[in-house]
Amino acid sequence: MTSPGLDAVLARIRAAETAAGRPAGAVALLAASKQQTPATLRATAAQGQRDYGENYVQEALPKMAALVDLDLSWHFIGRIQRNKTRDIAAHFDWVHTVDRLDIAQRLSAQRPASRAPLQTLIEVNVSGEASKGGVAPAAVPALALAIGTLPGLRLRGLMSLPAPEDDPRRQRAAFAELRQALEALADPTLDTLSMGTSADLEAAIAEGATIVRVGTAIFGARS
Ligand SMILES: *Cc1c(COP(=O)(O)O)cnc(C)c1O
Repeated sequence: MTSPGLDAVLARIRAAETAAGRPAGAVALLAASKQQTPATLRATAAQGQRDYGENYVQEALPKMAALVDLDLSWHFIGRIQRNKTRDIAAHFDWVHTVDRLDIAQRLSAQRPASRAPLQTLIEVNVSGEASKGGVAPAAVPALALAIGTLPGLRLRGLMSLPAPEDDPRRQRAAFAELRQALEALADPTLDTLSMGTSADLEAAIAEGATIVRVGTAIFGARS
């Protein structure tokens, strides 16, 4: 059982890297695996896909247990509930959606000493939607500075999930905003821009994405 979607997405990423004048392999694929079963992930893992993004802790933990024999990397990409920080700190390799210092402090304090620091991204709300998670671009520098002092976390960069947009120029404008927010931090240790999904990964790669988070184009439409 191979996933034709995975091969197609890898080809899209490669073509977008080339179109943007970026080296092959500059962009990592994070498979957004919400609602996918362990058997499905086992199949894409056999095709070489190591990184998986989950939105719900209670859905992710049984999948991790079922796939513990594989050397997978798990990224938390959902909204972080305060009562879930301990499980996120204990079980994930990356968290993409930190947007509050108190949550970051909990994740740091709860990160087991036996594990490397949790790779951390700040979620930024570039399209200014009130209902969405993420800090305003103007609030990024102060939060980045504070997170940088937390021993259980290793800040790596920024993440965004802009409002869906059909016009490629508008897609790029939102991703450019995230790139500029990272550039404004002027910190060479911050090397990660997590942006772009099935619908707009080309625009994200053109604006410097280093991780694209793709679900539908790999696995098919969710119910
Ligand atoms: C589901 C999800 C994705 C992937 O979206 P698709 O449209 O299925 O590619 C990316 N990022 C986040 C935060 C998600 O929840």
